[in-house]
Formats: sequence, C-alpha cells, structure tokens
Amino acid sequence: MNIAPSKNSWHDRAAKLSVEGRLFIDGDFREAVSGTKFETVNPADDSIIAAVSRGDGADIDLAVASARKAFKSGVWSRMAPRARMAVMLRFADLVENHAGEFAMLDTLDMGKPIQEMLTVDIPLALTCLRFTAECIDKIEGTVGATTSDVLSYVIRQPLGVVGCIVPWNYPLLMTVWKIAPALSAGNCVVLKPAEQSPLSALLLARLFMEAGGPAGVLNVVNGFGAEAGKALALHDGVDKIAFTGSAEVGKLMLIYAGQSNMKKVATECGGKSPHIILADTENLEKAAWWAAMGIFGNQGEVCCAGSRIIVEKSVVPDFIDALSAQAKSGYVPGDPLDETTTMGPLVTREQQQRVLNYIDIGRRGGADCILGGGVPDGLEHGAYVAPTIFAGVDNSMTIAREEIFGPVASIIPVSGYDEAIAVANDSPFGLAAGIWTSDLGKAHRFARDVEAGMVYVNSYMNGDMQLPFGGWKESGNGRDKCMDAILSYTQSKGVWVTVGE
Ligand code: NAD
Repeated sequence: MNIAPSKNSWHDRAAKLSVEGRLFIDGDFREAVSGTKFETVNPADDSIIAAVSRGDGADIDLAVASARKAFKSGVWSRMAPRARMAVMLRFADLVENHAGEFAMLDTLDMGKPIQEMLTVDIPLALTCLRFTAECIDKIEGTVGATTSDVLSYVIRQPLGVVGCIVPWNYPLLMTVWKIAPALSAGNCVVLKPAEQSPLSALLLARLFMEAGGPAGVLNVVNGFGAEAGKALALHDGVDKIAFTGSAEVGKLMLIYAGQSNMKKVATECGGKSPHIILADTENLEKAAWWAAMGIFGNQGEVCCAGSRIIVEKSVVPDFIDALSAQAKSGYVPGDPLDETTTMGPLVTREQQQRVLNYIDIGRRGGADCILGGGVPDGLEHGAYVAPTIFAGVDNSMTIAREEIFGPVASIIPVSGYDEAIAVANDSPFGLAAGIWTSDLGKAHRFARDVEAGMVYVNSYMNGDMQLPFGGWKESGNGRDKCMDAILSYTQSKGVWVTVGE
C-alpha cells in the first residue's frame, strides 16, 4: 500500500493534501444546485478541513436521473460479467494505490487513529471490493423441474438505481460495503455519505471513473440527512435504499419507502451487544483484551461494540482488574495522525457531549464509574472522551439499554449462564453477541439461544467476507459482506417457456 515512508510524517502529508469538496454527478464534479456549502471539521482540534457542497433534493434529482440513464443504457448493467469484474478489480487496485490519501481523509474527518485506517479499514475495504468483484460471474439462476414441453428458469437481474445512505464511523468501509455489492450486481448508485465525513467518498467516485466505470454509474451527493438523505429515500426513481445508521433513522427509511414507491429497504442499524464472560473461561486476560477491543476500539463508535459486558459474579473483581489494565495500556487517547496513537477523538463535539451526558446519566443512575468518565487531561482542544468503565450496572439502567456509541463499557454481574442469556436477550437490539467459556456445550447453546445476527465464541468482532454482517430486531433487516448481500442487490425473474406443442 502507498503509505507514509517515515514515522509521524502524516501531519506534513495532510497539510499538502488536496481535498475535493464538490458533488460527483454524471461523471463530473460540480457545485450543488443551490450553491451552498457546509464545513467539515477535524474533531482532533476543531479546525476546518474543507467547505463541502451541500446537496439537496435538486441535486438528488440530477443524480438519480443520471443513474437511471446509465442503467437503461446498459453500459454497466449489461456489460459482460468479466468486463465488469475487470473494472471493479482495477477500482480496488486504485483504492490500494491511494491508501495514504484515504487514511488521511477519514482520520481528519472523523478522528480515528491513522494506524487503524491502515491496518483495519483499508484492508477490509479492499477485501470487500475484490470479493464482490470476484462474485460477479458467480451470480447464477436455476432451472425448474417441469414437464418436457416446458422450460422454466429463474434469472437474477440488477434492481436499477440503488440509493446508499451511510454513517460516519467507518466512512470508507461502510461506503464500500454498500457500493461494492450494488455495483458488482450491475446497479447504478447514488451515494449520500454522512455529513460528518463527506470527503473519502468523493475520492472513491473519481477512482471508479479512472478504473473505467462509466459516467452516471456512481454518483455522490453530500449533504444533510433531512435534506439530501430524505430526498433520496423518498425518490420514486430509486429502486432500493441500502442504509447503515441509527435505528431511529432506519425506521424512517421504511416509512419513506411506504410513502413513495415501496422501494426495497435494507437497514443496518445500531446495537447494544452483549459480551459474556463466564467463570470457566480459560484465559481471563485474553477475554479482557478482546472485551477492551470490543468497546474501546474505534473510540467505541462501532455498531457491534460489546457495550454490555455480562460477567459471572465470581470472576468480576479479576475481570475488572484485567479490563482496566487493557484500557490503560491499549487505548490511550491522542493525536490520531500520530502512528502510535491507539485512540482518537470522537467524531464531533456534539457526539462528545452526547457521550459525556450518558456518563453523567450512568453516575446519577447509581452505576460505579471505575475508570475514565470524562475528557482526558490535556486533550480539551478536541472531542476526546477517556475510556470509561462502569461496574455494578443493572440491565434496566439507561446506559445498558441505549446505544451510547462511545468508549463506555457497562459491566453487568450475573449468577451464571441462564441469567447471562436472559440479560443478553433483554434488549431491543440484536446485532452481535460474544461469549467466553471453555464449555463447548454452553458455547453452542449460546449460539442458538442468543438473539443476534453475529455470534463470537472466545473472540469478538471476528469474521470474514463469507459471514453475513447484520442484525436481528431493531438492529436492522439487511446483510452486508456475504454472497447473500450481493444477491440482495438483484431481483429474481421467473421465465416459463412452452417448448412443446
Ligand atoms: P444516523 O442515523 O444519524 O445517520 C446515518 C445516515 O443517515 C447519514 O448519512 C445521515 O445524513 C442520514 N440521515 C439522517 N437523517 C436522515 C433522514 N431523515 N433521511 C434520510 N437520511 C438521513 O447515524 P450516524 O450517527 O451517522 O451513525 C451512527 C449509527 O450507525 C449508530 O447507530 C451505529 O450503530 C450505526 N451503524 C450500524 C452499522 C451496521 O452495520 N449495523 C454499521 C455502522 C454504524
């Protein structure tokens, strides 16, 4: 990957970075119809990174028209599968060649450590781009059993125009998880990035064209949710909305579909994921390492963060010691452009305030704040929150029920497996779930019993492109990453051919 040649040179490189802030419609960068802009801010120091065109319904109309025209022309949807695959693979190569730029853009925009961009977000985005590209000529139909005078078959075709609406916590990765399968399946896309992290999507659009993607196939309209996002989700020219974001806005997507053309809607929403530590865990230190990664990694701004750590009472004191040690050594807030930094600021001052407010609610609700609980000393210039651990949490407390989306762990003591699974399932969400045990029977029982779309035994947030990524209950109805995700950007057509008399 094209990364920095020497340590800590990222500030110099970021200062020279040329940042595109216009919309990308019909193969060209252009200002918003309204001519208005909004500022995107670096949460590490409140500095303004760039002025970004503020798209609204008028720009969405243009982008959807361009995508529809491209789709109907067949330039992409009817391209030979291996030719489309070649474009997508070139696209992946170009993203890899620009890894340093992507790393800087997302780190500046949303504050995550640049090291995490280089070792997590970008490699995962590349894997997704290449996996979905390689699946293009593996999308198959079926032939039905009929009498000999009939040929009956089912084919899969692209949906048409797909609107992708994404959040800010993994700006590049969440975008790729949507656009890669949508494009690979032959659709044209209108992408609405999060207003907190609008920049890397514009670089993606440019590289898609450089890779040979035709004009109009991938459009990017930045802007606010209630303006650009709502206009896209309500648009009659859109065949599917692929949404990742909060459950609150995910529910709006379903309403907008009902209020417009009944477009398909896939939602990937929030979570309050349980991470269970049973007393028979072989290695409590290891469990604590994964538990810390599960809630403090990416500043806790992770949909499947293991924010409810459900621990068997007899090991609570030892586990608290181990988790605190991991938090102190492994997640030290600092400058995200410094390659040694393991934890950056939260995405915005607003998000910082939201998380600090939850910490206050936790304290007032009677939970015991045993680590962190505020802004780290010396980092008042940015949207930082220290890794925070609450002990003695009851599952009915607000901090155990609502998604905080920050580095705040709640430790919930339980008497054993039965209480652990009851507490785990007592949530409106059902995204991810983890368990640490050396009892094989309990591990498999948990995998069946727990109400979640993703289950981890003796690790956390693991997986690859083969495993579906998505939730149960209010965590949404969509699945990213796997072959099923690609098929969800197609629709079936049954064909009945009378071949006899
Ligand atoms: P959000 O719901 O506020 O915003 C997500 C996107 O929706 C943004 O692009 C926003 O502009 C847009 N939006 C907001 N209001 C809209 C409206 N009325 N109409 C149309 N679009 C609208 O979420 P966020 O704060 O950006 O992201 C954090 C959330 O995302 C968390 O809840 C997190 O759990 C979730 N998330 C889920 C997954 C997953 O795969 N399940 C992955 C990452 C993040």
